[in-house]
Amino acid sequence: MGDAVQQFFAVKAKIAAAEREADRQAGAVTLVAVSKTFDATDIGPVIEAGQRVFGENRVQEAQAKWPDLKEAFPGIELHLIGPLQSNKAREAVALFDVIETVDREKIAAELTKEIAKQGRAPKLYVQVNTGSEPQKAGIEPREAVAFVTRCRDVHGLAIEGLMCIPPADENPGPHFALLEKLGKEANVAKLSMGMSGDYETAIAFGATSVRVGSAIFGSR
Ligand SMILES: *Cc1c(COP(=O)(O)O)cnc(C)c1O
Repeated sequence: MGDAVQQFFAVKAKIAAAEREADRQAGAVTLVAVSKTFDATDIGPVIEAGQRVFGENRVQEAQAKWPDLKEAFPGIELHLIGPLQSNKAREAVALFDVIETVDREKIAAELTKEIAKQGRAPKLYVQVNTGSEPQKAGIEPREAVAFVTRCRDVHGLAIEGLMCIPPADENPGPHFALLEKLGKEANVAKLSMGMSGDYETAIAFGATSVRVGSAIFGSR
């Protein structure tokens, strides 16, 4: 058994333990295995071990490796977890099953157009910049609920969840708590939060999916 497969099973076990610890239902949390920078030879064994949900942060990189993998392994669910440029909306709608990084009007409008054109509707999450970091993508927390409402009412988009990436140098708990509160206010069911260093904490705060890369595939 390769390293990534072994680490994949270890992460699965830790997720199950964190669900129990937090009195969450078994299987309440979806593991999104973040495979950015790794290629098909690294990813294939993890798929063969049973994983089907993967995250990528660049449209172009995902286009280079996932069409073949999707054909070889049925039932793959691919999440876009990196910033989306409006000129990449067409490719993103064609390839991804979940786009977690909707964060501005222009993207919402482009996605609406492409979904109508392609007749393919990925699930959509709004990214919230919970730390209000200037260099980071995501809508400001105070604008998040109104933005979800506009996505629904003005653009006709079904927004199913919220996503956040807490500041690297801060305790993530308050950020997860904020996302959970905003999710309730915006009436979304899904919360994508938690990475290799803090996914067990995120599960305690109500994450419905965690995005784990290096704890499975190794450092990048
Ligand atoms: C890379 C990345 C992850 C995974 O990070 P790890 O620390 O390797 O688990 C999660 N979410 C986003 C948005 C990322 O870009």
